[in-house]
Amino acid sequence: MIKKARCVPLRVHILRAMKRRIRPNHEKYQDFLNELGRKEAGIYGEQSIDYYLKLLPETERPYYIFHGLRLPFRDTFFQIDTLILFSNFFLVLEVKYFKGTLYFDPKNYQLLQEVEGNPLKVYQDPILQASNQCFKLNSWLRTKQFPEFPCEKLIVLTNPKVITKVLSSPGEADRYVIKSPALSTKVNTLLKRHSSEPLDKKLIKKLVKQLLKEHTLDNSSPIPQYGVLPADIITGVLCPNCIPNEIMKRIHGAWECSKCRGKFEDAHIAALRDYVLLISPFITMRELRRYLGIENRVTIIRLLKNLNIDFVGEKKSRTYNLSPLLTKI
Ligand SMILES: [Zn+2]
Repeated sequence: MIKKARCVPLRVHILRAMKRRIRPNHEKYQDFLNELGRKEAGIYGEQSIDYYLKLLPETERPYYIFHGLRLPFRDTFFQIDTLILFSNFFLVLEVKYFKGTLYFDPKNYQLLQEVEGNPLKVYQDPILQASNQCFKLNSWLRTKQFPEFPCEKLIVLTNPKVITKVLSSPGEADRYVIKSPALSTKVNTLLKRHSSEPLDKKLIKKLVKQLLKEHTLDNSSPIPQYGVLPADIITGVLCPNCIPNEIMKRIHGAWECSKCRGKFEDAHIAALRDYVLLISPFITMRELRRYLGIENRVTIIRLLKNLNIDFVGEKKSRTYNLSPLLTKI
């Protein structure tokens, strides 16, 4: 049973908006595109294991799946790609979408990646990462007065074409690293290993509740990190067909693209959402006119009214609160 569904983090929504709205000559453009690329690959990889999660063996007692759970640990947080709570143990899945050839080297706490003859890339050993997750999870359980649970871990490689090689500690890689199709078989082995008495149902229920309660969204923004200023942001309503950077005009109640000739009634919603993601949830009429490229304030008021956007203040000091637009992403 899925107890917590996966959702796209706010940071990724902001990075996507940055890709749409920041000029490619921005000095950090390539840096944030790289981050977005890594994050999109992660999301794609995590989604691709859903099919295999549905094939997990039937168990006597239900088990609970949590995607992207982010829990407090000391004065920071830790996030688990996928956590499965069985009746008497946890399973941490560290989901990785890697291309090329991977060289596992647990002895030296590293993973090396080779893609089409490019120089080797070095990553932290994912087995160690998953062990740390188990350690933090048990530490969290202690702080919440739960008993410690056995914690199993698996590194799930979601790209079927990735080649794996082992440089050290072959037993480790053999035990913990799998490709997605092997998930069900491996879980079966783990269930047999943990065939002891299941935990009290009430305790499990309490634990599920506590895990959901303690989950904390990551609201960190990449904007300060990449030094993005409001002046770097391209204004206007963008054509959804011709992105990037085809600004549309509002003609007879619809947005028209002069390039592809497309007509879109609601394209301003995406533009206003980008404004919230990149600049602020609050916007004045003067700024709305500049940003949307509409002179006529009556048109703007009508558009906002249709979106149920509230305002505070009167006349020139009137400020609209666009934040409800974010709940629909
Ligand atoms: Zn277009």
